[in-house]
Amino acid sequence: MIKAKKSLGQNFLIDKNILEKIINVTQIEKKNILEIGPGTGNLTNYILKKNPKKVIVIEKDKILAEKLEQNFRDEIIVINKDILEIDETSLLKEKFTVFGNLPYNISTEILSKWIVNLKDSFWFDHLILMFQKEVADRIISKFNTSTYGRLSILTNWKLKIDKICDIKPDSFSPKPKVESSLLLLSPKNKSFTIKDPKNLEKVTRIFFSHRRKMLKKPFNELFNGDQKILEKLKIDLSLRPQNLDYETYYQLTSEYENLRS
Ligand code: SAH
Repeated sequence: MIKAKKSLGQNFLIDKNILEKIINVTQIEKKNILEIGPGTGNLTNYILKKNPKKVIVIEKDKILAEKLEQNFRDEIIVINKDILEIDETSLLKEKFTVFGNLPYNISTEILSKWIVNLKDSFWFDHLILMFQKEVADRIISKFNTSTYGRLSILTNWKLKIDKICDIKPDSFSPKPKVESSLLLLSPKNKSFTIKDPKNLEKVTRIFFSHRRKMLKKPFNELFNGDQKILEKLKIDLSLRPQNLDYETYYQLTSEYENLRS
């Protein structure tokens, strides 16, 4: 019996219906699969039944990684590392389909890292990821809602988001305290041109540092009160950060980049 480590967010998925559902979200047959945090290999087992081309798994826990090596031998490649320290683009020349029941404490960090580091082409064709429901709700949210913010703006820039289902704590062992949601994230064919995604992070960070305050202060901080930008983007500075749609934040980032170039 393996004792779950709380520090590594270990909640193992044991619900067979959910495992079936996850592997049927997209095609696995003949695909290169990257699984993040495979744990005891519950999902890995289901993935292998679908005849993937190649399966690489990244598991930070040394003991679990060794167990996976023993249990799956030649069927998978186990990398015993922290996903945050991996350069996914260096693993394989072909695209991955990515699965991950992510540790809740680093899920937003991983997703942000992947988006910010995207180059001209995508290294994945789909991401099938489990999040804490509250985080998934933030990713999905649209403007004019209280959950709208940096994460939805960043994710929507490059990815199309589909919610597959919510998952109850009972589906895991040990049971987490909160509900989870499964999301399918797929590359968008076209996205607004931003030179450096770090600027999108910066612009949204400054705008959302005070959710309840008017746009005036962050706007002045970034654009020195530039009237032309306000008119061009039709922004009313008495609104709040959550009232501007995705597109406006991408345009603001582009204006910010123009000012610095
Ligand atoms: N996918 C499995 C396990 C989910 S629990 C299942 O559904 O049953 C989350 C897993 O991620 C654990 O195995 C944990 O050890 C691993 N993990 C935690 N932090 C990690 C990190 N930074 N990099 C890679 N794996 C990590």
